[in-house]
Amino acid sequence: MPYSRAYYEAHREEILQREREWYRKHHIQERGYDKKNRERINAYCRKRYAENKEIRERSAERAKKYYKEHLEARRAYHRRHYAEHKKEYFEKQRQRIKENPLPHRAHALVQYHKIPFGPQCESCGATVNLERHHPDYNKPLDVQTLCSSCNKLFRSRGENANALQNEQHGSRRKV
Ligand SMILES: [Zn+2]
Repeated sequence: MPYSRAYYEAHREEILQREREWYRKHHIQERGYDKKNRERINAYCRKRYAENKEIRERSAERAKKYYKEHLEARRAYHRRHYAEHKKEYFEKQRQRIKENPLPHRAHALVQYHKIPFGPQCESCGATVNLERHHPDYNKPLDVQTLCSSCNKLFRSRGENANALQNEQHGSRRKV
């Protein structure tokens, strides 16, 4: 339902009337609002969407516009949420560090010693979004330079850059 429940209940007749007009306009014989008919209409809309490039573009355009127009509102919401839940976030972070202190310590040491980045990702050669990667948290000053997408991949697999040197992966960036 594209409306909030409260809105739907307050404007029910108006909404149903609009839908009836839409059915007539699109030559869909009205057969009440049973589930079967609803599915048929949804299938019709999906089909038109898939076949019609213009509709897809218009929809993408609209989404982009909505995203832009609500940027500030969204930011304000997240700021407010963070302010209200600051303590929980802080506590969660403390808990994470307590349970797994090595990554935190390694990161802090790298920052403290100002270990420089390499010129590019050691795996795919990207020159943007570079991050430091620890193949072994017990050697905190031993770092590799990886782009953020490679880093995510290595972290999830627990491997170092050499193992995947020539492998293709999803969001690989061109140099
Ligand atoms: Zn990379």
